[in-house]
Amino acid sequence: MLGQMQDWPLLVSKFIEHAAINHPKREIVSMLPEGGQFRYTYAEHEVRAKKCAQALQKLGVKFGDRVATLAWNSHRHMEIWFGASGMGAVTHTVNPRLFPEQLVYIMNHAEDKVLMLDITFVPLIEAIAGHLTSIEHYVIMVGKDKMPETSLKGALSYEELVEAEDGNYSWPEFDENTACGLCYTSGTTGNPKGVLYSHRSNFLHTLLALAGDTLGITSTSVILPVVPMFHANAWGIPFAAAGSGAKLVLNGPHHDPDTLHNLIVEEGITVTAAVPTVWLGMLKYLQATGKDMAKLTTVTIGGSAAPRSMIEAFQRDYGVRVNHAWGMTETSPLGSLGSENAAIQSLSEEEKLDIQCKQGRSVLGVEMSIQDDKGNALPRDGKTSGRLMVRGPWVVESYFRGEAGNLLEEGNWFDTGDVACIDEYGYMQITDRAKDVIKSGGEWISSIDLENAAVAHPKVAEAAVIGIFHPKWDERPLLVVVMEEGQCVTHEEMNAFLADKVAKWWLPDDLAVVTELPHTATGKISKKTLRETFKDYSFPEA
Ligand code: AMP
Repeated sequence: MLGQMQDWPLLVSKFIEHAAINHPKREIVSMLPEGGQFRYTYAEHEVRAKKCAQALQKLGVKFGDRVATLAWNSHRHMEIWFGASGMGAVTHTVNPRLFPEQLVYIMNHAEDKVLMLDITFVPLIEAIAGHLTSIEHYVIMVGKDKMPETSLKGALSYEELVEAEDGNYSWPEFDENTACGLCYTSGTTGNPKGVLYSHRSNFLHTLLALAGDTLGITSTSVILPVVPMFHANAWGIPFAAAGSGAKLVLNGPHHDPDTLHNLIVEEGITVTAAVPTVWLGMLKYLQATGKDMAKLTTVTIGGSAAPRSMIEAFQRDYGVRVNHAWGMTETSPLGSLGSENAAIQSLSEEEKLDIQCKQGRSVLGVEMSIQDDKGNALPRDGKTSGRLMVRGPWVVESYFRGEAGNLLEEGNWFDTGDVACIDEYGYMQITDRAKDVIKSGGEWISSIDLENAAVAHPKVAEAAVIGIFHPKWDERPLLVVVMEEGQCVTHEEMNAFLADKVAKWWLPDDLAVVTELPHTATGKISKKTLRETFKDYSFPEA
């Protein structure tokens, strides 16, 4: 027997419609790539998103066509999200930090029809336009008066296109399983793979993002999603902001602590989210200037492991609650989050901090299992590590165009490529990426644990650990560090510092100092590049 409730398709246009009707005067504030700041309301935003949909129709965009964006977080970028996806096309957020060859590959693979780009990225696209095979229209996201001289064929001004429309448009209704957004991940081997989100998956993910235990967003929140809209949907925050009526502040191309701090103070930010590097920069800025975090109450940190020293400093010195989160492009991205559950409430502050360093407990809608190589579930004892497997309605089923074949294992589990354990309270801890684990004498050394321990050294700015061939042990850890300005640490000093923090047999066999560590397009340390750099290295004693 079937239930007898309404079939109301879960479409992302419902978010912006909800915001415009129920929170019409709530603001969206946006820093502009061409300079200056812009602010308007959700009511005005929805009209512009509708005008954007009308403009896309005039450009020939049809249901299911891909509309690419190469843009920073801005009100225009969000208009395109709602305009393109709302009309039934697919918003393809392209990461401008990728190499030009990767940009060409993914835009051709996606068969993008229109490319909407910030003025900042015009030279980048001019250099590769000759290789883009499917783009019919280039739209530069500025007013006509700011249009640059460009070799991009028939380049159009976004403002001119949008303002030519009347906004007399109703969001169409269609199947909630329709594709909504596309985002490529380079986390796997080989070519980047496209993750094709549906309206339904984004809608359910947003409901979860708005749950009390998750990002801390309510209608009275003021949110600054520093995480870019091209990185796994800015962790779903633009949808969640509209869905709740929270004030949304978008930082455009600015990621420096000074601009971010100004926004936090001037706009009264209460909730924000970003990768650890952004918050490490902010901490240094706060410590150097003696400033505080004004009204900020919650920061969600994810994308890479958040060091204990950083979590502690934000909470102790600035009264900001840190929620450590884990996720990936393939999980939309929210998978787990470290808010406190009843089981740990009575623990000491130190014990709670230990748990906060873990990647959090699975959210409703994402099931987690730690499995061995044969697919057997391992105990949730906080010690036994294995492959982190996930499944749920916003977890990928297959990559765009079937790349990499069947992704799911027995029981529909998706192998995240992370190695993790889960403790008795349900908190998951990433111990490594499967390919970054250091296999020493048949035992595993967690590169992440070693890095976190090393970066707590006051003279160290950034640290990475890679496995290097060793004739006796197969692999041993090499610690690669960037020093704080004018500082220096020897291998012996570092190992003495680490001695009470990790097992003795984990201590790095050597320490290399570099001026800079390589980072990927999503801001993570690129172990692949680092391994390449040190491919001819051998340990002195080996
Ligand atoms: P991406 O698809 O680029 O977002 O990358 C996803 C990967 O980032 C995950 O599979 C993890 O390896 C890593 N990751 C995400 N969040 C965390 C975290 N809080 N701690 C450690 N690694 C993380």
